[in-house]
Amino acid sequence: MNVPAFSFEPQHAPLREALMAAFTRVYDSQWYVLGNEVEQFEQEYASFNQVAHAVGVANGLDALVLALRALGIGPGDEVIVPSNTYIATWLAVTQVGATLVPVEPDPATSNLDPNGIGVAITPRTKAIMPVHLYGQACRMPEIMALATEHGLFVVEDNAQAQGAAFAGIPTGSFGHVNGTSFYPSKNLGALGDAGAVTTNSAELAQKVRVLRNYGSQQKYYNEALGYNSRLDELQAALLRVKLPELPRWTQQRQQIAAWYDQHLANIPQLRLPIIADGATHVFHQYVVHTPFRAELHQHLTSLSIGVQVHYPLPPHLQQAYQSLQLPAGSFPVAEELAATCLSLPMWPGMNEAQVQAVAGAIRSFQHQ
Ligand SMILES: *Cc1c(COP(=O)(O)O)cnc(C)c1O
Repeated sequence: MNVPAFSFEPQHAPLREALMAAFTRVYDSQWYVLGNEVEQFEQEYASFNQVAHAVGVANGLDALVLALRALGIGPGDEVIVPSNTYIATWLAVTQVGATLVPVEPDPATSNLDPNGIGVAITPRTKAIMPVHLYGQACRMPEIMALATEHGLFVVEDNAQAQGAAFAGIPTGSFGHVNGTSFYPSKNLGALGDAGAVTTNSAELAQKVRVLRNYGSQQKYYNEALGYNSRLDELQAALLRVKLPELPRWTQQRQQIAAWYDQHLANIPQLRLPIIADGATHVFHQYVVHTPFRAELHQHLTSLSIGVQVHYPLPPHLQQAYQSLQLPAGSFPVAEELAATCLSLPMWPGMNEAQVQAVAGAIRSFQHQ
């Protein structure tokens, strides 16, 4: 059986008419950037995420950049980031001119280990950026306590975890100002690029609103060195159709993960996802770990099972970050996770027969 890594079809097909109607509404309005649809979506997303304010922006990377800028973080400031995240988290810090301080994750969950953060804090540290990787909430209460103790800001990268929570509190609502992405394949995806900043601070929300629109509140008067990172009316209107479906899609992802757990149990040298006490996992990805990653990847691909690697090379080993001079061996936990991780097919609407086909293909793998 051919099982793709991802499919939009089960999400979008039942919504086709509603999505087309949203398109027509925007088309007819003749208002295409920052308008009523964006305002409505911001309120609906803020309510979903249990924060006072959501500010729509152009994409997830910009959301993180604007969050850092709103906090006044820049050159000379240190920001603690996970050593094993998607490069966007690091790029946001680099783009504001601040200094990256990578910290190794907990190898069990792939998430930032609160116990590892303390030693990385210096007098220059300004912020901690936890990433809820693959959709699992980080241990936010401990991270927030550490931040309070040391007078630091927290900026959550919630790009992969819309709908996740720790101890019942949603990710994206803990930090002082947080960023998320609505890239099409995220748990809540637009039909193009989009992102949002979430915060409980009216002041920080206002700063982000100004920064996303050329640093301007009054047209042609610019109070800050801003960006063009506005959210389109069309993407906001489409997101408004999809947002009410997100809890149902999350349940489907969790059901698929439970089927994987069941059908992949007790395979030697195959570690299934581990969820920390108190955390929920919304399974943006279902990631297994095996020392035979390359061989298993090839085996599954040859059987038309769509697998992916998130991510094959940690940021410090990317050519883009050559100038940091962090050679192989600098972050052994991140490097080991990158060498052993494999993302199995995961999308809302996937059925148990498809999960069984993936599991059967994995069980048929014989390594040398
Ligand atoms: C997708 C993603 C981003 C960036 O989002 P874009 O909308 O693609 O800019 C940032 N951080 C993480 C962890 C992501 O997965």
